[in-house]
Amino acid sequence: MATLQPPPAPDAASAIQAFSTSARQAFEDFLEGHSSRYHISRQKRANIISLLIDDQRAPINQIEHSQRHHAVHSFRYDAASDILLALPSEGHSGERQVVVQEEIFKVIEQEHLLSKHAGQNMTWAAIRNTYYGIARGEVEYLVKQCEICHKKALNRSRGPFIPIISTELFERV
Ligand SMILES: [Zn+2]
Repeated sequence: MATLQPPPAPDAASAIQAFSTSARQAFEDFLEGHSSRYHISRQKRANIISLLIDDQRAPINQIEHSQRHHAVHSFRYDAASDILLALPSEGHSGERQVVVQEEIFKVIEQEHLLSKHAGQNMTWAAIRNTYYGIARGEVEYLVKQCEICHKKALNRSRGPFIPIISTELFERV
C-alpha cells in the first residue's frame, strides 16, 4: 500500500506572493468553465463514501448496485483520518488522495511552492501520483500565473548576458 505524505504546512507568506487574488479568482472561473469528469464535488465525495461505508445494506435498485460496484473497485475510505483514496489504476501504481474541486487551488499551490517553483512539469509530476481529481491543464493554467516564476524567468533572461560577452572577449584575445 502506498503511504501518503502528510499535508505540507501552509506557507501563507509565499502563497500571497505567488498567486494574486485575481489570479486565484481567474483560476476558480477556469475550473467552473471547464467541467471535467475528473472533478469531484463535495456532494460526489459524500456519495462515494456513503456507498463504501454502507456496503452491508442491500442496494435499493440496479443503479445503486452498479454505483456501489464502481465505488468499491475505485475507492477506499479511511474513516479515521477522513481521507478518500482512489485505488491503483492504469498508469497509477499507488493510491491517490481524492481532492474536491474547492481544494484544487490549494493543492496545486502547495505542491508548486514545495517544488520551489520548479515549473509546470515538475509540479504536475508531484501531483499526478499523489492526488486524484486534478487535471494537467489545471496545473499548467495556475503555474503560468505564478508571479515568483515570472520574476525568476525575467532574471534568467538577464542573467547569462554578462558571462556570454566575457567569453566572447576572451576568445578574441
Ligand atoms: Zn512559481
